[in-house]
Amino acid sequence: MISTYTLRPNFWQNYSLDELTALEWEALCDGCGGCCLEKFLDYPKQPELTEYTDVACRLLDCATGYCSDYANRQKFVPNCVTLTPSKLKHMLWLPSNCAYKRLYLGQDLPKWHLLITKDAVATQQGMRAAGVGVAGRCISEVEVDEEDLEARIIRWVKA
Ligand code: SF4
Ligand code: SF4
Repeated sequence: MISTYTLRPNFWQNYSLDELTALEWEALCDGCGGCCLEKFLDYPKQPELTEYTDVACRLLDCATGYCSDYANRQKFVPNCVTLTPSKLKHMLWLPSNCAYKRLYLGQDLPKWHLLITKDAVATQQGMRAAGVGVAGRCISEVEVDEEDLEARIIRWVKA
């Protein structure tokens, strides 16, 4: 039986996404916050043409880049998607750094990912150097008029 409290060595290489424990699945998230930004989708035709904005979901703490109420998020944001392996085929609009999308596409984890570095400071530095992470550079949707959304398209998150 697999312990739910330990991560199996190199689990992301040795097991398919639907074989992961809940803890392993959660450990894949790098916390970039990119999936919490408003975006213009051309889905399902061309997810690679997704255009992200710097406007964040109302629950995102734009200073830290983390959801401010993750446990209760769907009460406030009913369309917040709970990622599962079977949903990934419909979620190729996720940022190119996102571990879930990368593994689904048969790519490696980014070299700065915490599972690779095992060092939170090195990961933070690597993410900053790679321009990954919304903390400190997004604005809440509650502060932006919907008609201004198009003017807030950014290029620092790409699908
Ligand atoms: S885009 Fe992927 S890695 Fe980044 S916060 Fe969302 S689920 Fe986690
Ligand atoms: S509810 Fe939380 S996790 Fe969901 S999109 Fe908003 S900030 Fe992100």
